[in-house]
Amino acid sequence: MTTANTTGTAGLTQGARAEATIDLGALRDNLAALRDRTGGPELMAVVKADAYGHGAVRCAREAVAAGARWLGTATPEEALALRAAGIGPEQARVLCWLWTPGGPWREAVRAEVDISVSGRWALDELLAAVRETGVPARVHLKADTGLGRNGCQPHDWPDLVAAALRAQAEGLLRVVGIWSHFACADEPGHPSIQLQLDSFAAALEHAERAGVRPEVRHLANSPATLTLPQSHYDLVRPGLAMYGLSPVPEVGAPADFGLRPVMSLSARLALVKTVPGGHGISYGHHYTTSGPTTLGLVPVGYADGVPRHASNAGPVQIGGTWYTVAGRVAMDQFVVDLGGDAPEVGEEVLLFGSGEHGEPTAEDWGRACGTISYEIITRIGARVPRRYVGGLA
Ligand SMILES: *Cc1c(COP(=O)(O)O)cnc(C)c1O
Repeated sequence: MTTANTTGTAGLTQGARAEATIDLGALRDNLAALRDRTGGPELMAVVKADAYGHGAVRCAREAVAAGARWLGTATPEEALALRAAGIGPEQARVLCWLWTPGGPWREAVRAEVDISVSGRWALDELLAAVRETGVPARVHLKADTGLGRNGCQPHDWPDLVAAALRAQAEGLLRVVGIWSHFACADEPGHPSIQLQLDSFAAALEHAERAGVRPEVRHLANSPATLTLPQSHYDLVRPGLAMYGLSPVPEVGAPADFGLRPVMSLSARLALVKTVPGGHGISYGHHYTTSGPTTLGLVPVGYADGVPRHASNAGPVQIGGTWYTVAGRVAMDQFVVDLGGDAPEVGEEVLLFGSGEHGEPTAEDWGRACGTISYEIITRIGARVPRRYVGGLA
């Protein structure tokens, strides 16, 4: 049952200093909106980095309840945590893609976690894990189609494909996926997009001619899921869009894509006081009151994930009015200049929410801090309790 956001505030739990409210109903609705928009392809709910700060296990369960049959994580540890929480292979395939030598590959193979391979070094280490465990691996071969980060370069691709097919013939693995990742999908029309589409088609054609029969071919992150149907293939991999934020803010706001932000962040006003004009505020005195005014103390800081770059810039809403961070964000707290207003100590300070009630959004915070909404939500720290509403799973 969702009771949050009916009054424009998330409704802080009694006694809470700060709280991130995670609206799991919004998460399910966002997945449904993505499915409506894309039609055919399967959805992989990307829940890396603790589901972008929203809580990986809770969000993964909810995504599975909403029909996602794939989950995506960066590290094998993140994938194993989902399996340890009881999300079995019959409920969801889990793919991890960030390879480091010495990783828990035996455990990943045993837990039937799908593993991305970008080169021979990874394949060889994975095959050693397979021989030790006796469990064949499910492998997604990753092509570097132009991102220049992870993935196999075109000149090494035939060799990697051939080596994987030899291991498949020996029963050591199955190549279940061919995939890649975009560099500039968030800039529709960027010339690299077509080049990557062409490069992916070529990598795929080579692999299929060599004998690979992938279950899934996949390329699309959130921006490509929303703006580039020709990239969808068999599976799309939305992260940010599932959390209800727009990966292409210059093209459209979340509502334009049928999305609703999942996370809102609130704190409780800790102190209100009057100060004279000319008073320096917070470390370094980077803000000075222009006249007699009131100040509010907000008990969250960069240890909670409020960026120090929000100093003199980040927006908050208290009782329907917007105020701006005054002076530096400290580790545990920051100050807002209330301009003579005197809200009650203990009132809710909304840092960001859905925006549906005029409050700031994670997108606003990203803009204020010179970063992207991805970083704002993902960095909300472990000291901030998550409160889940609207969950079914
Ligand atoms: C993070 C990530 C995604 C999801 O990206 P969004 O832009 O949040 O949708 C998809 N694929 C890979 C490989 C990723 O690393």
